[in-house]
This record gives sequence, C-alpha cells and structure tokens, in this order.
Amino acid sequence: MGTLSQEKDHMDFAQELDLVVKPESTLPGLNKEVGSLLGQGIPLFSIGGGYFRAALSQVLINFHARRGYYIAETPLISGGDLFEVSGHMGYYRQNMYVFKLEDREYAIKPMNCPFHVLIFLSELGRHRNKVKLPFKIFEVGRVHRLEPSGSVYGLLRPRAFTQDDAHIVTPEKDALQVISSVFDDMMTIYSKVFNIDLTPETIRLRLSLSDKGKIGTDFMGTRDEWESAEEFLRSAVEGIAKRYGFEYQAAEGEAAFYGPKIDVIVRLGSGPAAKDWQLGTIQFDFNLPRRFKVYDVVRELYGDINVFMIHRALLGSIERFLGAYLENYRGRLPFALAPLQFAVLGIRAGEELDQKVVEFARALHAGLISRGFRSGYMETTRTSLSGDVRLLETGPKPAVIVYIGAREIERSAVTVAVYDKGSRRQASLQAKGVEEALSALETLAEGLEKPIADIAGSTPRIPGDLSYEL
Ligand code: ZN
Repeated sequence: MGTLSQEKDHMDFAQELDLVVKPESTLPGLNKEVGSLLGQGIPLFSIGGGYFRAALSQVLINFHARRGYYIAETPLISGGDLFEVSGHMGYYRQNMYVFKLEDREYAIKPMNCPFHVLIFLSELGRHRNKVKLPFKIFEVGRVHRLEPSGSVYGLLRPRAFTQDDAHIVTPEKDALQVISSVFDDMMTIYSKVFNIDLTPETIRLRLSLSDKGKIGTDFMGTRDEWESAEEFLRSAVEGIAKRYGFEYQAAEGEAAFYGPKIDVIVRLGSGPAAKDWQLGTIQFDFNLPRRFKVYDVVRELYGDINVFMIHRALLGSIERFLGAYLENYRGRLPFALAPLQFAVLGIRAGEELDQKVVEFARALHAGLISRGFRSGYMETTRTSLSGDVRLLETGPKPAVIVYIGAREIERSAVTVAVYDKGSRRQASLQAKGVEEALSALETLAEGLEKPIADIAGSTPRIPGDLSYEL
C-alpha cells in the first residue's frame, strides 16, 4: 500500500481526498499512530469524509422516502435481551461486542433488524391493522462487528460500518413483487450512481443457501423452514435473472444465519482492471418474525394472512461502496458527493489586473459557498499554474476547477475544467460579473448533480470552505 511501485488502493485515495484518517498516520503532539488509538478496523472519517457521509446519507434517505420507506435512526447499544430474543446472542455472538455494566448485559448492535422489528411491533400496538403492509423501514445504520483481525481491511472489511439498511414486512402474496422492486431500486442506484450499464457482464447474482448439515447449529430454524424459504427465494432470483437477462449461481453454506439471501456482485472497470464487488443483498428471514411473535400479532390484527420479512441493503455498506468507487474511479467521486466540488484559482500575472482577478475569484468562491457548494480558493501564477493544477488533480481532486486570470476578466468569461465519469473537459462560460458567473457555475453543477437528483428528488447542498486543503 502506498509505495510508488504499487497500484494505489482505496485507502490512498481516501487519504488524498481527506475522507479518512489513515491508520498509519502519526498524530502531532501525541506522537502516536491513529490506528493504535482507534483499534483495528475502526475507520475515522475526516473532514472530507464528513461531507461525503452527510451528502450520501441525504441522498439515500430521500431515495427511500420517495419509495415509501419510513426512516429510522436506532440506538447503537441496547440491553442484551433484545439480541437474545432476536437470536443473535445464540448464533452471532462471536461477531458481537458484548459487555456487562451494573450487572446487566449490553450489546453493540451488529445489525439493525431487531430495532426495526420493535418499531414495527410498536406501530401495530398503537395503530392496530391501520399500519400499511408491506411495511418498509429504512436506516442509514451504523453497526459494529468483530471481524477476525486477519480479515479486517481498510474500508472494504472494517469492524465499524454503515449499512443502507431496510426491512420489509410483506404479506406473502406480495413478497415476489416486493423483492423484484427492491432489485429494480438497486439497479437504479447502480446505473445512476456508478454509471454502469446493466448487463450480464456487470451484474451477477448469487443465491446463498444454508449448509443442510449445519441447520440447527450455524443456521437457525428447522430443515422444513429452510427448504421452503430457499424454494421461495430461488423462484424470486429466477424471476429477476430472467427479466434482466442476468445469471445466477447457487452457493451452499453462504446464507445468513437467519435465512437465505440473494447477493449481487457488480463488476466495475474493464479489461485487466476489472474487479468484482459484492455490494447489494436481499435476504429472506423466517426466524426474526417468529421469534418476535410478528406472525401471531399480524394474524390477530389482519386476519388469516402470512407475512414474510425481507432484509435488504442496496449499496451494502457506505464504507465498502466508497472503497469500490474510489478504486474504480481513481478517487473521483460523483459531484454531489465529492468533498471538494469547486477549486477556484485566482491566477496572478504581475499586471494591474491582478487586484481585479483576486477580488473576482474570492467573490466567486464565497458565492459558491453561499449557494451550498463546497469550495476552496487558491492563488497561483501563470508560471506555477500547471504544477498547482497537477497537485490538485493528484491530491484533493476537485470536481470542477475554476480558472480566473487576466484573460478571463478581459473576456468576461470563466474557464472551467470539469472532471466527470472518468474524463476531463474544459469549457469557457460567458459571464459579465460575479453574479452571472455564479449562475453559470450553478447551471453547470445542476447538470453534474442530475443523475443523483433524478433518483433522490433533490441533491444535498452542504456548503463548506475547504481552502486550507489547497
Ligand atoms: Zn436485517
């Protein structure tokens, strides 16, 4: 990692963009490595990472809210009893942080599901059968899992991570349709956010099943329950594979402890640089609803219907998604999520115009921030310009570089370099003054934000002055 002879990996890019504090970096003053204080597998997001996470969370919340999901935000810690009822203490304890205080056992949540089930039950308690089914609840949910120290790796396999997690309680008769539309949502996100074509080469499905010999030990429930769950999910994955023309493979022993799942593997990049990423998952669960008495309560309130419970994550985890994106696009994030959206360069040339250049460039930088963008301002000279631009391109990677020099002032124009979807294009935007230039840049931004605005209804505008990064 990080040496010149080797390919950069996602942690190198994450540090260049100031997304994550590199565990090996030494803190001034304390003279200690960050990782030694945090512990293994606990990523610390830094300034740029804070913006990225906040922006992506907003996108995901809007995306799901527009698709009929309720939005949850659940505690990180609960009494151990919750995870006794859910079965995690019995089947998942080796991956959990469990501790005792004042004679009571607590657990840090490794999954969000038990909380979502509690919310569902509490709604049933309050509103009886007026609660709409399918019931869909979404959370940008932080979880902690004690992964073996040998397999912990950067953002791809951390011990603390954040799922774009949802749970759906659906009547049995709607279950196939529900899974099918979850898959459509996943494909929408992949094509709009990752900018990939959905083909059998880029998308593969895996039907993860139990290991029959380990039912009752590693896999919770009875053989009959597993068989009918797996049969159901097989018909779901076959329907999806047929509709999209994708392939699927069954994998024994890969199921979650509570049920079988469909895992989605995405190929990013092409040629020798192509890499497979396991991202989304759709999971079928017959255990949690049984253990929380969901079946009984629903029957009591709604009459004789069967409900199924689906767990699903579209990106999988925010950290993993970020790692995949950084490696595939070499550190270039989509405009709406990029920490540094604009870098405004005031270019001095030692002329009488310099004062005008600096005033204009500074006003533009301030105006961008007041319009909700993240911008950095830097002064340079004609002679050091190309070197400075190269530093920007290899370091903080602004999505748009705005050049303001004497030439621009004289011609009432703003020169921009736009980095989008792996390419760079340069353009000259006509603008008579700061206000016109700001409008032109906002129009440019709206074009760059469009893929995300299309799926989320709007794009997050979280302003920030990142001049110190330049
Ligand atoms: Zn779950």
